Amino acid sequence: MEYGTIAAISTPMGEGAIAIVRLSGEEAIEIADRIFRSAGGSKLAEVPSHTIHYGRIIDPKSKEIAEEVMVSVMKGPRTFTRENVVEINCHGGIVSVNRVLQLALNAGAELAEPGEFTKRAFLNGRIDLSQAEAVMDLIRAKTDRAMGVALGQMEGRLSKLIRGLRQDIIETVAHVEVNIDYPEYDDVEEMTHRLLVEKATHIKAELQKLLQTSEQGKILREGLSTVIIGRPNVGKSSLLNSLVQENKAIVTDIPGTTRDVIEEYVNVRGVPLRLVDTAGIRETEDIVERIGVERSRQVLKEADLILLVLNSADELTKEDEQLFVAVEGMDVIVISNKTDLPQKVDMDRVREIAGNHQIVTTSLLEEEGIDDLEQAIAGMFFQGQLEAADMTYVSNNRHIALLHQALQAIDDVLSGIDMGTPIDIIQIDLTRTWELLGEIIGDTVQESLIDQLFSQFCLGK
Ligand code: GDP
Ligand code: ZN
Repeated sequence: MEYGTIAAISTPMGEGAIAIVRLSGEEAIEIADRIFRSAGGSKLAEVPSHTIHYGRIIDPKSKEIAEEVMVSVMKGPRTFTRENVVEINCHGGIVSVNRVLQLALNAGAELAEPGEFTKRAFLNGRIDLSQAEAVMDLIRAKTDRAMGVALGQMEGRLSKLIRGLRQDIIETVAHVEVNIDYPEYDDVEEMTHRLLVEKATHIKAELQKLLQTSEQGKILREGLSTVIIGRPNVGKSSLLNSLVQENKAIVTDIPGTTRDVIEEYVNVRGVPLRLVDTAGIRETEDIVERIGVERSRQVLKEADLILLVLNSADELTKEDEQLFVAVEGMDVIVISNKTDLPQKVDMDRVREIAGNHQIVTTSLLEEEGIDDLEQAIAGMFFQGQLEAADMTYVSNNRHIALLHQALQAIDDVLSGIDMGTPIDIIQIDLTRTWELLGEIIGDTVQESLIDQLFSQFCLGK
């Protein structure tokens, strides 16, 4: 199919020294030629594909030189969109990159809608829907590991798994068809039932396995929301600082993606921690008082992980004990800090009120015990199972919802068999499972959903 030629700024506004105007479409190269004069005098239409050219952008009307640029020419179909792609690398700031974009639009390109480059890659069959979504996740990926999940998905790991399941279902459906068409063979009916139970059970188990990864996948993507609590002066700020210092938020440099650094993101052994409300900890020292405030309760309630700090050079106070009550039922790591000082805390009592929570002893002043703490955090999150690098994680909310629906449908298949439901009714649920899984990879989605999905992308992607 042919679409018009689109253009957009595909680097984040105001960030970095280089900004890229990207064009994609049948006429991308011709349009670029209208506004580009290469230093060597050659026309982009004549240069080999996948080459870079130095020159200037000019306004064809006024002949005024707008920008000094590097231009990459990539002819379809060996491009991200499978169309002809030209990338104009400008050195200037927002004003000059906007000027180049404006000239490209004047020269015949249309302004790309958000996500339109990725949408084209999808529409031109370059990537499937889950891969397209992975591009979006990649743009937002906060840590190496989250990046790995997104990359794995983009490479089609999830798609491959889903395709396999759908293939299974199709084969089963075909078998059931035979049963419907030739009901006179008794043994076919029996075989069909056995096969149905076997296949549906297998598919159910696979769906459950995928869904189990979803929570972790989501955390990998969004970060484990973590709250540090404790009485004044126990060492909360020191803890925050040492976590931030030791684990610089990882920002990976993918050309053309948003590099948004969120200050309180730290990567602890592959677990992205989103240190919530840490500004509050930095500025006000009376977190205990703030626990009483409704907002703080809310922050606590939404936390995935609580780091509860005690001062072991002090006796336990009533305030300390109240904190344990406030975080009951949550994932908590207790940090008994200031081990370098004479110890006054009753550790038996701490163990008693800590219950199942892990206790780590630290001297943040002397930088002791931080490794143990990091180990505790990572161990709590991964429990060994997520370390396998080749696992498939589901981290996208739309996929998770569809997997849940597919699981429900396959459950209906199983209970249908159990209740002796006519086979053609069971067939409907089976087909539904197939369709729902198809929606994940975009085989059975409607146009409107596609538009809606792609509009969530940043402009220029
Ligand atoms: P917060 O009020 O809970 O945020 O506590 P801070 O992190 O601001 O620390 C309060 C004081 O305790 C500071 O003077 C720190 O230097 C000190 N401190 C923090 N951790 C330790 C530790 O492990 N040992 C000792 N001796 N002092 C510490
Ligand atoms: Zn502090």
